[in-house]
Amino acid sequence: MATFSRNFRFARRVCVIGGGLGGLATALRLRHRGHKVTLIEKNARPGGKLAELRQDGYRWDMGPSLLTMPDVLRDLFTDLGHNLADHLDLAPVDPTCRYFWPDGFQIDEDSAFFQRPDVAAFLRYAAGIYSLSGEAFLTRPPHELWRAFSPKNWPKLIHLPKVATLSTVAREVERRFPDPRLRQLFQRYATYNGSSPYRAPATFNVIPYVEATFGAWYLRGGMARLPETLARLARTAGIELLTEAEVKSLDGGGARLSSGDIIGADAYVCNGCTIEAHRRWIRFPGWEAEARRLAKPERALSGFVLLLGVNRRYPQLSHHNIFFSHDYPAEFRQMFTEKQPATDPTIYISITARTDPDDAPEGHDNYFILVNAPAETESIRWDKEGPAYADRIVAKLEAAGLTDLSHSIKARHIFTPLDFAQRDLSAAGSLYGWASHSPMTALLRPPLRSPLDPRLFFVGGTTHPGGGIPLVLLSAKMAAEQVEASFTANSR
Ligand SMILES: Cc1cc2nc3c(=O)[nH]c(=O)nc-3n(C[C@H](O)[C@H](O)[C@H](O)COP(=O)(O)OP(=O)(O)OC[C@H]3O[C@@H](n4cnc5c(N)ncnc54)[C@H](O)[C@@H]3O)c2cc1C
Repeated sequence: MATFSRNFRFARRVCVIGGGLGGLATALRLRHRGHKVTLIEKNARPGGKLAELRQDGYRWDMGPSLLTMPDVLRDLFTDLGHNLADHLDLAPVDPTCRYFWPDGFQIDEDSAFFQRPDVAAFLRYAAGIYSLSGEAFLTRPPHELWRAFSPKNWPKLIHLPKVATLSTVAREVERRFPDPRLRQLFQRYATYNGSSPYRAPATFNVIPYVEATFGAWYLRGGMARLPETLARLARTAGIELLTEAEVKSLDGGGARLSSGDIIGADAYVCNGCTIEAHRRWIRFPGWEAEARRLAKPERALSGFVLLLGVNRRYPQLSHHNIFFSHDYPAEFRQMFTEKQPATDPTIYISITARTDPDDAPEGHDNYFILVNAPAETESIRWDKEGPAYADRIVAKLEAAGLTDLSHSIKARHIFTPLDFAQRDLSAAGSLYGWASHSPMTALLRPPLRSPLDPRLFFVGGTTHPGGGIPLVLLSAKMAAEQVEASFTANSR
Protein backbone atom coordinates (compact mmCIF):
# COMPACT_ATOMS: atom_id res chain seq x y z
CA MET A 1 0.00 0.00 0.00
CA ALA A 2 1.45 3.35 -1.02
CA THR A 3 1.97 5.96 1.66
CA PHE A 4 1.64 9.69 1.14
CA SER A 5 3.86 12.05 3.04
CA ARG A 6 1.25 14.80 3.09
CA ASN A 7 2.47 18.08 4.41
CA PHE A 8 -0.61 20.25 4.24
CA ARG A 9 1.16 23.36 5.56
CA PHE A 10 3.26 23.45 2.41
CA ALA A 11 0.89 21.70 0.00
CA ARG A 12 0.94 23.62 -3.28
CA ARG A 13 -0.82 23.42 -6.59
CA VAL A 14 1.20 22.04 -9.50
CA CYS A 15 0.15 21.84 -13.12
CA VAL A 16 2.04 19.29 -15.25
CA ILE A 17 1.63 19.88 -18.97
CA GLY A 18 2.09 16.66 -20.97
CA GLY A 19 1.43 13.10 -19.86
CA GLY A 20 4.51 11.42 -21.34
CA LEU A 21 6.67 9.27 -19.09
CA GLY A 22 8.40 12.33 -17.66
CA GLY A 23 5.13 14.13 -16.91
CA LEU A 24 3.54 11.09 -15.26
CA ALA A 25 6.58 10.38 -13.09
CA THR A 26 6.96 14.03 -12.00
CA ALA A 27 3.24 14.29 -11.20
CA LEU A 28 3.40 11.12 -9.08
CA ARG A 29 6.50 12.26 -7.22
CA LEU A 30 5.00 15.68 -6.43
CA ARG A 31 1.69 14.15 -5.38
CA HIS A 32 3.63 11.81 -3.11
CA ARG A 33 5.06 14.92 -1.42
CA GLY A 34 1.48 16.02 -0.71
CA HIS A 35 0.95 18.57 -3.49
CA LYS A 36 -2.27 19.01 -5.41
CA VAL A 37 -1.45 18.00 -8.96
CA THR A 38 -3.29 18.43 -12.26
CA LEU A 39 -1.82 16.67 -15.31
CA ILE A 40 -2.93 17.88 -18.74
CA GLU A 41 -2.47 15.66 -21.80
CA LYS A 42 -3.53 16.62 -25.30
CA ASN A 43 -3.97 13.04 -26.57
CA ALA A 44 -6.69 10.58 -25.57
CA ARG A 45 -4.21 8.45 -23.59
CA PRO A 46 -1.21 9.44 -21.51
CA GLY A 47 2.13 7.87 -22.38
CA GLY A 48 3.41 10.08 -25.21
CA LYS A 49 5.96 8.12 -27.22
CA LEU A 50 5.16 4.92 -25.28
CA ALA A 51 2.14 4.24 -27.51
CA GLU A 52 0.87 0.96 -28.96
CA LEU A 53 -1.38 -0.27 -31.75
CA ARG A 54 -3.49 -3.41 -32.12
CA GLN A 55 -5.02 -4.93 -35.24
CA ASP A 56 -6.20 -8.42 -36.25
CA GLY A 57 -4.42 -10.22 -33.42
CA TYR A 58 -1.19 -8.21 -33.76
CA ARG A 59 0.05 -5.84 -31.05
CA TRP A 60 2.86 -3.40 -31.71
CA ASP A 61 4.77 -1.04 -29.46
CA MET A 62 5.11 2.22 -31.42
CA GLY A 63 7.94 3.75 -29.41
CA PRO A 64 10.58 2.31 -27.07
CA SER A 65 11.31 -1.36 -27.47
CA LEU A 66 14.28 -1.68 -25.13
CA LEU A 67 14.50 -0.87 -21.44
CA THR A 68 17.93 -0.34 -19.89
CA MET A 69 18.95 0.58 -16.32
CA PRO A 70 15.89 -1.14 -14.80
CA ASP A 71 16.92 0.01 -11.30
CA VAL A 72 15.92 3.54 -12.23
CA LEU A 73 12.37 2.31 -12.85
CA ARG A 74 12.47 0.19 -9.70
CA ASP A 75 13.53 3.27 -7.70
CA LEU A 76 10.54 5.25 -8.96
CA PHE A 77 8.13 2.62 -7.66
CA THR A 78 10.03 2.28 -4.36
CA ASP A 79 10.07 6.05 -3.84
CA LEU A 80 6.29 6.07 -4.34
CA GLY A 81 5.84 3.29 -1.75
CA HIS A 82 5.22 0.52 -4.30
CA ASN A 83 6.98 -2.62 -5.42
CA LEU A 84 7.70 -2.67 -9.16
CA ALA A 85 7.19 -6.44 -9.39
CA ASP A 86 3.60 -6.04 -8.11
CA HIS A 87 2.78 -3.97 -11.20
CA LEU A 88 5.10 -4.84 -14.10
CA ASP A 89 6.86 -7.95 -15.33
CA LEU A 90 10.38 -7.26 -16.65
CA ALA A 91 11.75 -9.90 -19.01
CA PRO A 92 15.45 -10.05 -19.94
CA VAL A 93 16.15 -10.14 -23.68
CA ASP A 94 19.05 -12.35 -24.77
CA PRO A 95 20.78 -11.81 -27.12
CA THR A 96 20.48 -8.08 -26.61
CA CYS A 97 20.56 -7.71 -30.38
CA ARG A 98 21.35 -9.72 -33.53
CA TYR A 99 23.35 -7.80 -36.14
CA PHE A 100 23.34 -8.52 -39.88
CA TRP A 101 25.69 -7.06 -42.51
CA PRO A 102 25.12 -6.86 -46.28
CA ASP A 103 27.79 -9.57 -46.90
CA GLY A 104 25.77 -12.09 -44.85
CA PHE A 105 27.94 -11.81 -41.73
CA GLN A 106 26.00 -12.04 -38.45
CA ILE A 107 26.84 -11.44 -34.77
CA ASP A 108 24.78 -11.91 -31.61
CA GLU A 109 25.36 -9.33 -28.89
CA ASP A 110 25.25 -11.66 -25.88
CA SER A 111 27.39 -12.40 -22.83
CA ALA A 112 29.99 -14.28 -24.96
CA PHE A 113 30.25 -11.23 -27.24
CA PHE A 114 30.74 -8.88 -24.29
CA GLN A 115 33.55 -11.15 -23.03
CA ARG A 116 35.59 -11.08 -26.29
CA PRO A 117 38.97 -9.50 -25.41
CA ASP A 118 38.56 -6.57 -27.83
CA VAL A 119 34.98 -5.87 -26.70
CA ALA A 120 35.85 -6.32 -23.00
CA ALA A 121 38.71 -3.80 -23.41
CA PHE A 122 36.30 -1.30 -24.98
CA LEU A 123 33.82 -1.82 -22.16
CA ARG A 124 36.58 -1.18 -19.59
CA TYR A 125 37.31 2.15 -21.31
CA ALA A 126 33.53 2.92 -21.27
CA ALA A 127 33.29 1.87 -17.61
CA GLY A 128 35.76 4.66 -16.81
CA ILE A 129 33.47 7.19 -18.50
CA TYR A 130 30.52 5.86 -16.50
CA SER A 131 32.35 5.94 -13.18
CA LEU A 132 33.15 9.63 -13.59
CA SER A 133 30.16 10.99 -15.50
CA GLY A 134 27.39 8.53 -14.63
CA GLU A 135 26.45 9.75 -11.19
CA ALA A 136 27.58 13.31 -11.82
CA PHE A 137 25.64 13.89 -15.01
CA LEU A 138 22.64 11.60 -14.64
CA THR A 139 21.56 12.46 -11.12
CA ARG A 140 22.29 16.19 -10.83
CA PRO A 141 21.17 19.26 -12.72
CA PRO A 142 24.10 20.79 -14.65
CA HIS A 143 24.52 23.71 -12.22
CA GLU A 144 25.29 21.18 -9.47
CA LEU A 145 27.83 19.14 -11.48
CA TRP A 146 30.64 20.64 -9.42
CA ARG A 147 29.39 18.66 -6.41
CA ALA A 148 30.56 15.49 -8.14
CA PHE A 149 34.15 16.63 -7.65
CA SER A 150 34.13 16.02 -3.90
CA PRO A 151 37.32 14.47 -2.42
CA LYS A 152 35.75 11.00 -2.38
CA ASN A 153 35.51 11.15 -6.17
CA TRP A 154 39.00 12.50 -6.85
CA PRO A 155 40.45 9.07 -7.72
CA LYS A 156 37.93 8.88 -10.57
CA LEU A 157 39.50 11.96 -12.15
CA ILE A 158 41.94 9.57 -13.80
CA HIS A 159 39.10 9.07 -16.33
CA LEU A 160 38.69 12.81 -16.99
CA PRO A 161 40.54 12.71 -20.36
CA LYS A 162 37.91 10.21 -21.64
CA VAL A 163 35.11 12.58 -20.65
CA ALA A 164 36.57 16.04 -21.22
CA THR A 165 37.63 15.32 -24.79
CA LEU A 166 36.90 16.84 -28.16
CA SER A 167 37.10 13.39 -29.74
CA THR A 168 33.97 11.78 -31.17
CA VAL A 169 32.21 8.46 -30.65
CA ALA A 170 33.38 7.31 -34.10
CA ARG A 171 37.02 8.29 -33.62
CA GLU A 172 37.40 6.49 -30.29
CA VAL A 173 35.61 3.38 -31.62
CA GLU A 174 37.85 3.35 -34.70
CA ARG A 175 40.96 3.62 -32.50
CA ARG A 176 39.89 0.46 -30.67
CA PHE A 177 38.41 -1.74 -33.42
CA PRO A 178 40.14 -2.39 -36.76
CA ASP A 179 37.16 -4.49 -37.97
CA PRO A 180 34.75 -2.23 -39.91
CA ARG A 181 31.78 -4.29 -38.73
CA LEU A 182 32.56 -3.81 -35.04
CA ARG A 183 33.13 -0.13 -35.73
CA GLN A 184 29.62 0.13 -37.17
CA LEU A 185 28.17 -1.88 -34.28
CA PHE A 186 29.61 0.38 -31.57
CA GLN A 187 29.11 3.61 -33.50
CA ARG A 188 25.38 2.98 -33.79
CA TYR A 189 24.93 3.63 -30.06
CA ALA A 190 25.18 7.38 -30.78
CA THR A 191 21.77 7.08 -32.44
CA TYR A 192 20.25 6.25 -29.03
CA ASN A 193 20.02 9.99 -28.52
CA GLY A 194 19.37 10.82 -32.16
CA SER A 195 22.92 11.90 -32.99
CA SER A 196 25.57 11.09 -35.57
CA PRO A 197 28.48 8.98 -34.27
CA TYR A 198 30.81 11.11 -36.43
CA ARG A 199 29.91 14.22 -34.43
CA ALA A 200 28.68 13.06 -31.00
CA PRO A 201 31.26 13.53 -28.19
CA ALA A 202 33.15 10.36 -27.24
CA THR A 203 31.49 10.49 -23.81
CA PHE A 204 28.53 8.72 -25.40
CA ASN A 205 30.65 5.60 -25.73
CA VAL A 206 29.31 5.02 -22.23
CA ILE A 207 26.03 3.70 -23.73
CA PRO A 208 27.19 0.17 -24.68
CA TYR A 209 28.69 -0.16 -21.20
CA VAL A 210 25.30 0.63 -19.67
CA GLU A 211 23.57 -1.91 -21.90
CA ALA A 212 26.18 -4.62 -21.26
CA THR A 213 26.20 -4.02 -17.50
CA PHE A 214 22.54 -3.40 -16.65
CA GLY A 215 21.03 -5.59 -19.36
CA ALA A 216 18.35 -5.22 -22.01
CA TRP A 217 14.80 -5.64 -20.76
CA TYR A 218 11.30 -5.83 -22.10
CA LEU A 219 8.01 -5.30 -20.26
CA ARG A 220 5.74 -8.31 -20.73
CA GLY A 221 2.43 -7.29 -22.26
CA GLY A 222 4.14 -4.37 -24.02
CA MET A 223 6.04 -1.22 -23.12
CA ALA A 224 2.75 0.70 -23.02
CA ARG A 225 1.96 -1.11 -19.75
CA LEU A 226 4.37 1.35 -18.11
CA PRO A 227 2.44 4.60 -18.73
CA GLU A 228 -0.82 2.71 -18.26
CA THR A 229 0.32 1.63 -14.78
CA LEU A 230 1.60 5.10 -13.89
CA ALA A 231 -1.69 6.68 -15.03
CA ARG A 232 -3.63 4.21 -12.87
CA LEU A 233 -1.44 5.02 -9.85
CA ALA A 234 -1.88 8.73 -10.60
CA ARG A 235 -5.68 8.50 -10.56
CA THR A 236 -5.63 6.38 -7.40
CA ALA A 237 -3.34 8.90 -5.72
CA GLY A 238 -5.79 11.71 -6.45
CA ILE A 239 -4.00 13.39 -9.34
CA GLU A 240 -6.48 15.18 -11.60
CA LEU A 241 -5.69 13.71 -15.03
CA LEU A 242 -7.20 15.60 -17.94
CA THR A 243 -6.93 13.97 -21.38
CA GLU A 244 -7.78 15.43 -24.81
CA ALA A 245 -6.88 18.77 -23.26
CA GLU A 246 -4.19 20.82 -24.99
CA VAL A 247 -2.49 23.78 -23.37
CA LYS A 248 -2.66 26.62 -25.89
CA SER A 249 -0.84 29.23 -23.86
CA LEU A 250 0.92 29.57 -20.54
CA ASP A 251 1.81 32.79 -18.75
CA GLY A 252 1.59 34.28 -15.26
CA GLY A 253 -2.20 34.05 -15.47
CA GLY A 254 -2.17 30.26 -15.81
CA ALA A 255 -2.43 27.52 -18.44
CA ARG A 256 -5.18 28.17 -20.97
CA LEU A 257 -6.62 24.95 -22.41
CA SER A 258 -8.17 24.28 -25.80
CA SER A 259 -11.55 24.26 -24.00
CA GLY A 260 -10.95 27.84 -22.83
CA ASP A 261 -10.55 26.77 -19.18
CA ILE A 262 -7.65 28.34 -17.30
CA ILE A 263 -5.70 26.40 -14.70
CA GLY A 264 -3.62 28.42 -12.26
CA ALA A 265 -0.86 26.87 -10.15
CA ASP A 266 2.12 27.63 -7.95
CA ALA A 267 4.39 25.74 -10.37
CA TYR A 268 4.11 24.53 -13.98
CA VAL A 269 6.08 21.56 -15.28
CA CYS A 270 6.29 21.30 -19.06
CA ASN A 271 6.77 17.74 -20.38
CA GLY A 272 6.39 18.62 -24.07
CA CYS A 273 9.30 19.23 -26.43
CA THR A 274 11.11 22.30 -25.04
CA ILE A 275 11.76 23.77 -28.51
CA GLU A 276 8.18 23.43 -29.70
CA ALA A 277 6.64 24.50 -26.36
CA HIS A 278 8.44 27.86 -26.57
CA ARG A 279 7.47 28.29 -30.20
CA ARG A 280 3.81 27.43 -29.64
CA TRP A 281 2.55 28.18 -26.18
CA ILE A 282 5.00 29.38 -23.50
CA ARG A 283 4.25 33.10 -23.25
CA PHE A 284 6.10 34.34 -20.17
CA PRO A 285 7.95 37.62 -20.89
CA GLY A 286 11.12 36.96 -22.91
CA TRP A 287 9.73 33.86 -24.62
CA GLU A 288 10.63 35.06 -28.15
CA ALA A 289 14.39 35.23 -27.44
CA GLU A 290 14.31 31.91 -25.57
CA ALA A 291 12.40 30.28 -28.45
CA ARG A 292 15.06 31.55 -30.91
CA ARG A 293 17.90 30.29 -28.67
CA LEU A 294 16.37 26.82 -28.34
CA ALA A 295 15.64 26.53 -32.06
CA LYS A 296 19.26 27.25 -33.07
CA PRO A 297 21.17 23.97 -32.41
CA GLU A 298 20.80 21.12 -34.86
CA ARG A 299 17.80 18.87 -34.13
CA ALA A 300 18.22 15.24 -33.14
CA LEU A 301 16.99 12.60 -35.54
CA SER A 302 13.40 11.57 -35.93
CA GLY A 303 12.29 8.10 -36.99
CA PHE A 304 10.47 6.39 -39.81
CA VAL A 305 8.42 3.56 -38.30
CA LEU A 306 6.91 0.67 -40.20
CA LEU A 307 4.66 -1.76 -38.34
CA LEU A 308 4.16 -5.08 -40.11
CA GLY A 309 2.04 -8.12 -39.34
CA VAL A 310 3.88 -10.99 -41.03
CA ASN A 311 2.26 -14.41 -41.57
CA ARG A 312 5.45 -16.43 -41.21
CA ARG A 313 8.47 -16.69 -38.90
CA TYR A 314 11.96 -16.21 -40.31
CA PRO A 315 14.17 -18.42 -38.12
CA GLN A 316 17.20 -16.14 -38.50
CA LEU A 317 15.48 -13.28 -36.61
CA SER A 318 15.65 -12.63 -32.88
CA HIS A 319 13.71 -10.20 -30.62
CA HIS A 320 15.97 -7.24 -31.55
CA ASN A 321 17.68 -7.18 -34.97
CA ILE A 322 19.77 -4.66 -36.90
CA PHE A 323 20.45 -4.81 -40.65
CA PHE A 324 23.35 -2.45 -41.31
CA SER A 325 23.82 -0.26 -44.38
CA HIS A 326 26.80 -0.53 -46.76
CA ASP A 327 28.11 2.95 -46.01
CA TYR A 328 27.50 4.27 -42.49
CA PRO A 329 29.12 7.74 -42.97
CA ALA A 330 27.01 8.28 -46.12
CA GLU A 331 23.85 7.44 -44.18
CA PHE A 332 24.49 10.18 -41.59
CA ARG A 333 25.68 12.64 -44.25
CA GLN A 334 22.39 12.22 -46.06
CA MET A 335 20.32 12.71 -42.92
CA PHE A 336 22.20 15.59 -41.27
CA THR A 337 23.86 17.45 -44.17
CA GLU A 338 21.52 16.81 -47.09
CA LYS A 339 18.51 16.53 -44.76
CA GLN A 340 17.12 13.63 -46.72
CA PRO A 341 16.13 10.08 -45.74
CA ALA A 342 19.03 7.66 -46.24
CA THR A 343 18.84 5.81 -49.56
CA ASP A 344 20.44 2.73 -47.96
CA PRO A 345 19.27 2.94 -44.33
CA THR A 346 20.29 0.79 -41.37
CA ILE A 347 17.13 -1.06 -40.34
CA TYR A 348 16.14 -2.01 -36.80
CA ILE A 349 13.45 -4.68 -36.27
CA SER A 350 11.94 -5.50 -32.90
CA ILE A 351 9.66 -8.55 -32.71
CA THR A 352 8.03 -8.68 -29.30
CA ALA A 353 6.13 -11.85 -30.30
CA ARG A 354 9.47 -13.67 -29.86
CA THR A 355 9.19 -12.94 -26.11
CA ASP A 356 5.41 -12.43 -25.82
CA PRO A 357 3.71 -14.99 -28.12
CA ASP A 358 0.32 -13.27 -27.57
CA ASP A 359 1.54 -10.29 -29.61
CA ALA A 360 0.84 -12.06 -32.94
CA PRO A 361 -1.33 -14.93 -34.20
CA GLU A 362 0.34 -18.34 -33.96
CA GLY A 363 3.16 -18.74 -36.48
CA HIS A 364 3.10 -14.99 -37.26
CA ASP A 365 5.36 -12.14 -36.16
CA ASN A 366 4.77 -8.46 -35.30
CA TYR A 367 7.57 -6.27 -36.73
CA PHE A 368 8.29 -2.84 -35.33
CA ILE A 369 10.74 -1.47 -37.90
CA LEU A 370 12.62 1.73 -37.10
CA VAL A 371 14.85 3.61 -39.50
CA ASN A 372 16.54 6.86 -38.45
CA ALA A 373 15.17 9.82 -40.37
CA PRO A 374 15.95 13.55 -40.49
CA ALA A 375 13.73 15.73 -38.32
CA GLU A 376 12.36 17.58 -41.33
CA THR A 377 8.67 18.07 -42.01
CA GLU A 378 8.82 20.89 -44.56
CA SER A 379 11.49 19.85 -47.08
CA ILE A 380 10.27 16.23 -47.21
CA ARG A 381 6.68 15.38 -48.18
CA TRP A 382 6.39 12.40 -45.82
CA ASP A 383 2.71 11.90 -46.58
CA LYS A 384 3.60 11.32 -50.25
CA GLU A 385 7.05 9.72 -49.91
CA GLY A 386 6.30 7.46 -46.92
CA PRO A 387 4.78 4.46 -48.77
CA ALA A 388 7.63 4.30 -51.34
CA TYR A 389 10.20 4.50 -48.52
CA ALA A 390 8.41 1.64 -46.74
CA ASP A 391 8.62 -0.43 -49.96
CA ARG A 392 12.35 0.32 -50.19
CA ILE A 393 12.86 -0.97 -46.64
CA VAL A 394 10.94 -4.18 -47.32
CA ALA A 395 12.91 -4.72 -50.57
CA LYS A 396 16.18 -4.26 -48.67
CA LEU A 397 15.10 -6.85 -46.08
CA GLU A 398 14.18 -9.30 -48.83
CA ALA A 399 17.63 -8.84 -50.35
CA ALA A 400 19.12 -9.45 -46.88
CA GLY A 401 17.51 -12.87 -46.64
CA LEU A 402 13.87 -12.32 -45.59
CA THR A 403 12.76 -14.03 -48.78
CA ASP A 404 9.32 -13.11 -50.05
CA LEU A 405 8.65 -10.75 -47.13
CA SER A 406 6.54 -8.45 -49.32
CA HIS A 407 4.09 -11.30 -49.96
CA SER A 408 3.92 -12.28 -46.27
CA ILE A 409 2.62 -8.93 -44.97
CA LYS A 410 -0.92 -9.08 -43.56
CA ALA A 411 -0.99 -5.68 -41.86
CA ARG A 412 1.04 -2.52 -42.44
CA HIS A 413 1.14 0.91 -40.78
CA ILE A 414 3.53 3.77 -41.51
CA PHE A 415 4.50 6.42 -38.99
CA THR A 416 6.70 9.28 -40.23
CA PRO A 417 8.41 12.32 -38.61
CA LEU A 418 5.29 14.27 -39.57
CA ASP A 419 3.19 11.97 -37.39
CA PHE A 420 5.63 12.36 -34.47
CA ALA A 421 5.51 16.14 -34.87
CA GLN A 422 1.71 16.18 -34.83
CA ARG A 423 1.11 13.55 -32.15
CA ASP A 424 3.73 14.67 -29.63
CA LEU A 425 4.05 18.35 -30.65
CA SER A 426 7.80 17.88 -31.12
CA ALA A 427 10.03 20.10 -33.29
CA ALA A 428 9.76 18.63 -36.81
CA GLY A 429 9.31 15.19 -35.25
CA SER A 430 12.72 15.22 -33.52
CA LEU A 431 12.66 12.51 -30.86
CA TYR A 432 15.16 14.13 -28.47
CA GLY A 433 15.17 17.87 -29.17
CA TRP A 434 18.80 18.90 -29.66
CA ALA A 435 21.28 16.56 -31.34
CA SER A 436 24.31 15.93 -29.13
CA HIS A 437 26.82 17.22 -31.67
CA SER A 438 29.01 19.26 -29.37
CA PRO A 439 29.96 19.04 -25.69
CA MET A 440 27.73 22.11 -25.12
CA THR A 441 24.56 20.64 -26.63
CA ALA A 442 25.29 17.22 -25.11
CA LEU A 443 25.99 18.31 -21.55
CA LEU A 444 24.15 21.61 -21.30
CA ARG A 445 20.72 20.70 -22.59
CA PRO A 446 17.70 22.99 -22.09
CA PRO A 447 17.54 23.40 -18.29
CA LEU A 448 15.07 21.83 -15.85
CA ARG A 449 14.11 25.31 -14.57
CA SER A 450 13.19 28.07 -16.96
CA PRO A 451 15.20 31.30 -17.03
CA LEU A 452 11.91 33.06 -17.94
CA ASP A 453 9.92 32.54 -14.74
CA PRO A 454 10.73 30.88 -11.37
CA ARG A 455 7.43 28.94 -11.52
CA LEU A 456 8.25 27.20 -14.81
CA PHE A 457 10.06 23.84 -14.94
CA PHE A 458 10.80 21.24 -17.63
CA VAL A 459 10.98 17.47 -17.66
CA GLY A 460 11.57 14.78 -20.27
CA GLY A 461 13.74 13.71 -23.16
CA THR A 462 14.38 17.19 -24.55
CA THR A 463 15.78 18.57 -21.28
CA HIS A 464 18.45 17.32 -18.84
CA PRO A 465 19.87 14.65 -18.84
CA GLY A 466 18.36 13.47 -22.18
CA GLY A 467 16.08 11.00 -23.91
CA GLY A 468 15.30 7.35 -23.34
CA ILE A 469 13.25 5.75 -20.56
CA PRO A 470 15.84 5.75 -17.74
CA LEU A 471 17.09 9.27 -18.44
CA VAL A 472 13.55 10.63 -18.61
CA LEU A 473 12.77 9.00 -15.25
CA LEU A 474 15.92 10.58 -13.79
CA SER A 475 14.83 13.89 -15.29
CA ALA A 476 11.49 13.53 -13.47
CA LYS A 477 13.23 12.90 -10.16
CA MET A 478 15.38 16.02 -10.57
CA ALA A 479 12.46 18.15 -11.82
CA ALA A 480 10.30 17.15 -8.83
CA GLU A 481 13.19 17.96 -6.47
CA GLN A 482 13.64 21.38 -8.08
CA VAL A 483 9.92 22.19 -7.79
CA GLU A 484 9.93 21.08 -4.16
CA ALA A 485 13.07 23.14 -3.44
CA SER A 486 11.45 26.22 -5.00
CA PHE A 487 8.45 25.83 -2.66
CA THR A 488 10.70 25.40 0.37
CA ALA A 489 12.72 28.49 -0.59
CA ASN A 490 9.52 30.55 -1.04
CA SER A 491 8.09 29.50 2.31
CA ARG A 492 11.13 30.64 4.32
C1 LIG B 1 10.23 5.22 -32.22
C2 LIG B 1 10.89 5.45 -30.89
C3 LIG B 1 11.74 4.47 -30.37
C4 LIG B 1 12.33 4.65 -29.12
N1 LIG B 1 13.10 3.66 -28.61
C5 LIG B 1 13.51 3.75 -27.33
C6 LIG B 1 14.06 2.61 -26.68
O1 LIG B 1 14.15 1.53 -27.26
N2 LIG B 1 14.46 2.73 -25.37
C7 LIG B 1 14.31 3.92 -24.69
O2 LIG B 1 14.67 3.97 -23.50
N3 LIG B 1 13.77 5.01 -25.29
C8 LIG B 1 13.36 4.95 -26.58
N4 LIG B 1 12.74 6.02 -27.16
C9 LIG B 1 12.73 7.31 -26.45
C10 LIG B 1 11.66 7.41 -25.38
O3 LIG B 1 10.44 6.94 -25.89
C11 LIG B 1 11.47 8.87 -25.01
O4 LIG B 1 12.71 9.47 -24.66
C12 LIG B 1 10.50 9.06 -23.84
O5 LIG B 1 9.38 8.23 -23.93
C13 LIG B 1 10.09 10.52 -23.84
O6 LIG B 1 9.27 10.79 -22.75
P1 LIG B 1 8.91 12.30 -22.40
O7 LIG B 1 8.37 12.30 -21.03
O8 LIG B 1 10.06 13.18 -22.66
O9 LIG B 1 7.79 12.79 -23.38
P2 LIG B 1 6.88 12.37 -24.58
O10 LIG B 1 6.73 10.91 -24.69
O11 LIG B 1 7.34 13.13 -25.77
O12 LIG B 1 5.48 12.96 -24.09
C14 LIG B 1 5.19 14.32 -24.07
C15 LIG B 1 3.70 14.45 -23.91
O13 LIG B 1 3.35 15.83 -23.81
C16 LIG B 1 2.12 16.02 -24.51
N5 LIG B 1 2.02 17.45 -24.83
C17 LIG B 1 2.90 18.20 -25.54
N6 LIG B 1 2.48 19.46 -25.62
C18 LIG B 1 1.31 19.52 -24.96
C19 LIG B 1 0.38 20.56 -24.70
N7 LIG B 1 0.58 21.81 -25.16
N8 LIG B 1 -0.74 20.28 -24.00
C20 LIG B 1 -0.96 19.04 -23.52
N9 LIG B 1 -0.11 17.99 -23.74
C21 LIG B 1 1.00 18.24 -24.45
C22 LIG B 1 2.25 15.12 -25.71
O14 LIG B 1 1.00 14.83 -26.29
C23 LIG B 1 2.93 13.89 -25.10
O15 LIG B 1 1.98 12.95 -24.64
C24 LIG B 1 12.12 5.86 -28.41
C25 LIG B 1 11.26 6.84 -28.93
C26 LIG B 1 10.64 6.62 -30.14
C27 LIG B 1 9.66 7.64 -30.65
